Amino acid sequence: MLSSMQDVPLTVTRILQHGMTIHGKSTITTWTGEPEPQRRTFAEAGARATQLANALRDELGVREDDRVATLMWNNAEHVEAYFAIPSMGAILHTLNLRLPVEQLIWIVNHANDRVVIANGSLLPLLAPLLPHLPTVEHVVVAGPGDRSVLDGAAARVHEYEELIAGRPTTYDWPELDERRAAAMCYTSGTTGDPKGVVYSHRSIYLHSMQVNMTESMGLTDKDTTLVVVPQFHVNAWGLPHATFMTGINMLMPDRFLQPAPLAEMIEREKPSHAAAVPTIWQGLLAEVTANPRDISCMANVTIGGSACPPSLMEAYDRLGVKLCHAWGMTETSPLGTMAHPPAGLTPEEEWPYRITQGRFPAGVEARLIGPAGEVLPWDGESAGELEVRGNWIAASYYGGSDGEPLVPEDKFSADGWLKTGDVGVIRPDGYLTLTDRAKDVIKSGGEWISSVELENALMAHPDVAEAAVVAVPDEKWGERPLATVVLKDGATADYEMLRSFLGESIAKWQLPERWTIVPAVPKTSVGKFDKKVIRRQYAEGELD
Ligand code: ADP
Repeated sequence: MLSSMQDVPLTVTRILQHGMTIHGKSTITTWTGEPEPQRRTFAEAGARATQLANALRDELGVREDDRVATLMWNNAEHVEAYFAIPSMGAILHTLNLRLPVEQLIWIVNHANDRVVIANGSLLPLLAPLLPHLPTVEHVVVAGPGDRSVLDGAAARVHEYEELIAGRPTTYDWPELDERRAAAMCYTSGTTGDPKGVVYSHRSIYLHSMQVNMTESMGLTDKDTTLVVVPQFHVNAWGLPHATFMTGINMLMPDRFLQPAPLAEMIEREKPSHAAAVPTIWQGLLAEVTANPRDISCMANVTIGGSACPPSLMEAYDRLGVKLCHAWGMTETSPLGTMAHPPAGLTPEEEWPYRITQGRFPAGVEARLIGPAGEVLPWDGESAGELEVRGNWIAASYYGGSDGEPLVPEDKFSADGWLKTGDVGVIRPDGYLTLTDRAKDVIKSGGEWISSVELENALMAHPDVAEAAVVAVPDEKWGERPLATVVLKDGATADYEMLRSFLGESIAKWQLPERWTIVPAVPKTSVGKFDKKVIRRQYAEGELD
């Protein structure tokens, strides 16, 4: 028997309409580098998104299923594009502006993007790509930046503000099937070609509701969130959509992502929450240590994308800022876990929970798979590859406009679970601790060494700013750890001191015998340690 309930499609359009009316007074504040930031209410941004949809349809001829790319920082115009494009039935394709140009060209061509909306400040990146992007018919430019670099481009160039000016602030939004594509995002392609994850209206809607639950970020319209995680990186962890559901105010850093302007933004605008990867919080910590500022307004921070060193959490605890650890992937929209401790514990009892990756919310099912393909128990000890499934988790990758969806065997199990490539343990109460990415685990003489555990222990040393540990070939053991360390300014620690410090918490056989001090750890396009580059530098003899 079927239910007697209504079945209203879960669409981005509905999130837009809700946000611009019920939460019309909530604000998007965009940092401009000028004395005053740009301020826009949800009602205004929603009206402008509607004008943008009219312009895309009437002036640029965008139709349902057309791909409209964005090459933009986090700002109000990017939020407008987030809502305009999917609501009209087209597909928002966020481009990662830090990718190598060959990858960007490959991705735009693979996705068949017809339009690119770009920030003026990013035109020097876009202009040389355009001759290689035959599908791009239109470029829409928003915000400051020299337009002359586009002179001679084959694509038609439009000014964002001129394009939307005077257009209707109403639109006859199509009633879309909630399973249709709304947005796409390519993974950074650490191995092989980048892979496109295509989010549906339904997956975005359900994921946004989860972001807003107290199990997850749990913010309200009394909060302001500083959205540092880029809008081109897994939909800024779902925040632009989630905020329109509950009226959370947004503070957008645009291109001002360096520690000093971030510290200034926090002091002036007083966000209560923020979201970013650990390297951002490492940088901000160094900044506020050198130039003290009160950032305690930012009581809660969501930190994820790579493992958060416990020492970083402790340092922020002392500043009155609580970092809450989250795990996710492009393929999981991204929210997979968040590390809120269970109720009724003292701060000391909470600590072991806070340093896990967190527990799975309703809507994400998890299992651990052992080396022989067996499902492992949640006993906090059995380590295996994490597999997940749920309504905001990918079932395949985009196969190109003529191709079937891609379902590679190394990414999806025969029964449809996503193979995350992450190795870890799950406690009986559902808290996940990741020990490594499968490809980063150090396999030494038949035993596994966790690179993350070594990094966390090293970063607890007062002289260490950053540390990345990778596996390097070893004749006797197969692989051994190589520790690359960035020292803080004026620090004096040497390898012997660091090794004996590590020995206090790490088993002797796991201690690295290869060390190198580097000025900076190489980072990926989304600010994670780039272990592939470190391994290559070592192989090519570039590291001592
Ligand atoms: P990329 O492959 O470009 O890094 P994603 O941004 O999708 O793409 O990264 C997902 C991966 O990031 C996860 O599979 C996991 O290895 C890592 N990750 C994300 N959050 C955490 C976390 N809290 N702790 C440890 N690793 C994490």
